[in-house]
Amino acid sequence: MKCSNCENKNELKTTKISYKYKDCGLENVTLIGVTTMKCNKCGEEYFNFGDIENLHRKIAEILLQKADLLTGREIKFLRKHLGYSGAMFAHLTGYAHETISRIENAKQEVAEAFDRLVRFAVANKMPDRDYDLHDLILKNKGRHFLRIELSQSKNGSWLEKGAA
Ligand SMILES: [Zn+2]
Repeated sequence: MKCSNCENKNELKTTKISYKYKDCGLENVTLIGVTTMKCNKCGEEYFNFGDIENLHRKIAEILLQKADLLTGREIKFLRKHLGYSGAMFAHLTGYAHETISRIENAKQEVAEAFDRLVRFAVANKMPDRDYDLHDLILKNKGRHFLRIELSQSKNGSWLEKGAA
């Protein structure tokens, strides 16, 4: 690939890096093996996140299995993963739009009932899972983690490296 920002005619050099994926709205997601290209003339940097839909789905799957309550940011991530606006999500869950915003922005605590509602709403749209959400909750088998790590495979899809 060549730089699209300047006149540099040379092929850009590729390196693989670990990347704090704050772009997704979460502070604790690290992507391993992101391909990056930097133009040595103008300094422009290009990132290749591969299959983003697949990446976000993997993150959503990990969040659904979380033992602790979801945070506002995580709820926002999941809502966006479903492709819903705040207003649509309010309609879907029966909560006021303003309440959803307050929860997402950590101005209001996430209630256990809302956490469940969000999880089931998301799970309903992601039927192909290798775990049972009911089991996870009823048997307290949720996963405890603070950080999420994913690594990119050669075909561009993402694999969970760990959640610890
Ligand atoms: Zn350039």
